[in-house]
Amino acid sequence: MKNLIVGCGISGAALARMLAESGEQVTIIDSKEHIAGNIYDYYQDGICVHKYGTHIFHTSNKAVWDFVSRFCQWYPYQHQVRGLIDGQIVPIPFNLNTLHALFPKSMADKIEQKLLDNFGLNVKVPILELRKKDDKDLQFLAQYIYEKIFLEYTLKQWGQTPDEIDPSVSGRVPVYVSRDNRYFQDKYQGIPIGGYTAMVKKMLNHKNITVKLKTPFNKNMKYDRLFWSGSIDEFFDYQYGELPYRSERFEFISFPYSKFQDVAVVNYPCNYEFTRIGEYKYFLNDQSPKTIVSYEFPEPFENGKNDRYYPIANDKNAALYQKYLKLAAKQGNVYFFGRLGDYKYYDMDKAIARCIDLFKGIKR
Ligand code: UDP
Repeated sequence: MKNLIVGCGISGAALARMLAESGEQVTIIDSKEHIAGNIYDYYQDGICVHKYGTHIFHTSNKAVWDFVSRFCQWYPYQHQVRGLIDGQIVPIPFNLNTLHALFPKSMADKIEQKLLDNFGLNVKVPILELRKKDDKDLQFLAQYIYEKIFLEYTLKQWGQTPDEIDPSVSGRVPVYVSRDNRYFQDKYQGIPIGGYTAMVKKMLNHKNITVKLKTPFNKNMKYDRLFWSGSIDEFFDYQYGELPYRSERFEFISFPYSKFQDVAVVNYPCNYEFTRIGEYKYFLNDQSPKTIVSYEFPEPFENGKNDRYYPIANDKNAALYQKYLKLAAKQGNVYFFGRLGDYKYYDMDKAIARCIDLFKGIKR
């Protein structure tokens, strides 16, 4: 069997490895000049920099964790995010510490009690749920969080309000009735020591895998099975039109001093045109007299100009994706997967879980 995988990101690399270990020959191609897709990273001044923005591996799926752990050792990094809200740098997601940092004590105590009475401790509440609560203090809080944390960030990120985007997107960052300042509560979290690119390189290092970079797909390529982790509309020559995506522009700055901010990521919901600043040395505790940060500017994806980052989940786009899937079903030996191939906002662990399922379901 000749397997051709298009796209050498985390999805393509994971699937290549699974196929190779089952004894099959795999060729994996990518039009870019590097492996690892959007998790590509590189070293500069002793700091591991994520070229396409900050990536933090986190999962509660043991099978996924076990798979990835075969290709790296982990630095036990636990992600924390802060946001500039009303002039203060406070924990994001909004939690009980954020509440006490932003409000006078009497007010914070009263609201904290109401949150605990209504939801309990260590419970995540989507902002759109909190807004529905029939209590004037909780409604005040919900409106405050909506305006100060979600509304303008989401307008910058998606060009739409949180009410207009799919709730699965704004629901990713809840209000957290907790003192836990971490961004994720998954059992397994970490950053691969040496970086993601080294991890993917190890994944691809198998006698049955051939990697070809700077190699776009063309229809004359020979295969028995094709696995396409690019955008599905591209495979079908955009015959029903383009699937929309959001893209990002990163401005990297190297500062000649050792520290820029207190944590790896600081969000700026209400200020500036960028959404957040990432400082890379935190991920692996890299020691350097310099520091490297990226300012993240969301923008619409434009074919040929920038890269696809985020599928835009809404009914219209889901219907368009379904039309392409119908074409895909007629192909027989072509499989679509990954964030772009499935048009789904996968985190890295979900992308790998999808590969595990796909691998099990391949026609043999
Ligand atoms: N979000 C927000 N304010 C924040 C953080 C997140 O409004 O301070 C919303 C925004 O719509 C964003 C979504 O929550 O796109 C998901 O955020 P996440 O941090 O998961 O995004 P990613 O890291 O995948 O870009």
